[in-house]
Amino acid sequence: MDNLSNIGVIKDVMQRHGFTFSKALGQNFLVNPSVCPRIAEMGNAKKGFGVIEIGTGVGVLTNELAKRADKVVAIEIDDRLIPVLEETLAEHDNVKVINADVMEVDLHKLIEEEFDGLEVAVCANLPYYITSPILMMLLEQRLRIRSVTVMVQKEAGTRLCAPVGTRDMGAVTVAVNYFSAPKILFNVSRGSFMPAPNVDSCVVRFDIKEDTPAGVTDEAFFFKMVRAAFSQRRKTLVNSVSSGMGLDKAAVTKAVENSGLPAAVRPEQLKMEQLVTFSEELKKLA
Ligand code: SAM
Repeated sequence: MDNLSNIGVIKDVMQRHGFTFSKALGQNFLVNPSVCPRIAEMGNAKKGFGVIEIGTGVGVLTNELAKRADKVVAIEIDDRLIPVLEETLAEHDNVKVINADVMEVDLHKLIEEEFDGLEVAVCANLPYYITSPILMMLLEQRLRIRSVTVMVQKEAGTRLCAPVGTRDMGAVTVAVNYFSAPKILFNVSRGSFMPAPNVDSCVVRFDIKEDTPAGVTDEAFFFKMVRAAFSQRRKTLVNSVSSGMGLDKAAVTKAVENSGLPAAVRPEQLKMEQLVTFSEELKKLA
C-alpha cells in the first residue's frame, strides 16, 4: 500500500482491523510521510541488500524498505498486526513477516537461510522500552550485517553516539563504539508519531566495524569492567570498578597506575585504547 504513511489511511486500516495501540509494546507508529523513505535510503535498503526490520507496526517502514531492497524479513511480536500486514504489504513479493519476539530469534540462522548472496542491513523504528537490549544483542552477536539504522529517543541517541572519553558516555557507548562507528543521521519530532510520545527522537546508523579494538584478550572481562566502571556516575575509576567487581581497592589502584593513568581518573575521561589497557592490567591482578 503506497500511501501508508498517510495518517488517514493508517487510522482506516487500524479501525477496520479493530486494532488498538499497546503501550507496553512501545507502539508509537510513524505518521510523517517523509521519515520512512529517509530511513530506508540512509539505512542501506538498496539493490544487493537484504534488510531485517524489527517491529513493523502497520508496515510503513517495511513498505519503503521493500521498494528498495532485494528482500525484507520483518519481525513483529504483536500477532494482532499480522492480518493488517497481509493487507498493507500485499503488493510486495519480497517481504517475509515473522511473528516473534526479536530477542528470541536466531538471527545467525535467519541471515544464512534468508539472505544467501546478499549483503545485510538492519532498519527499525525501535520499541523504546527495549532499545539498549536489542542494540546490544545485534552488536554482540557479530552478525553478518553491514549496518544497523534505528530510530531511538533523542537522549539515547546522544548517549549512544557520544565520543568515548566525553561526559555523555556510558557503558553502552563503549560497547557501541567497540563494534561500530555510530552517527546521528537526523532528528524526528514527537509529532511525527501516533500516539505522540512525550520525547523527541532521532535516527542513528551504526556502521559495523570489520575489526574490533586491538588488544582485548578477554571480551567478557572487558565488558564486565566497563559495566562496573560506568555503574556509578561521577565516581573515580578505582571506586566504581572495585565496588562494582568486588575487587580489592589496592589491586585496582595498582592496575590504574600500571596503565599510566592518574589515580583519581574518572571512567568518562578514558579513550577506548586506555580502557583496553586498563582492562588488561586489571586482569593480570584480579
Ligand atoms: N515500524 C513501525 C512504525 O515505524 O510505525 C512501528 C514502530 S513501533 C515504535 C515498535 C514496533 O515494535 C511495534 O509494532 C511493536 O509491536 C514492535 N515490538 C515491540 N517489542 C518487540 C519485540 N520484542 N520484538 C519484535 N517486535 C517488537
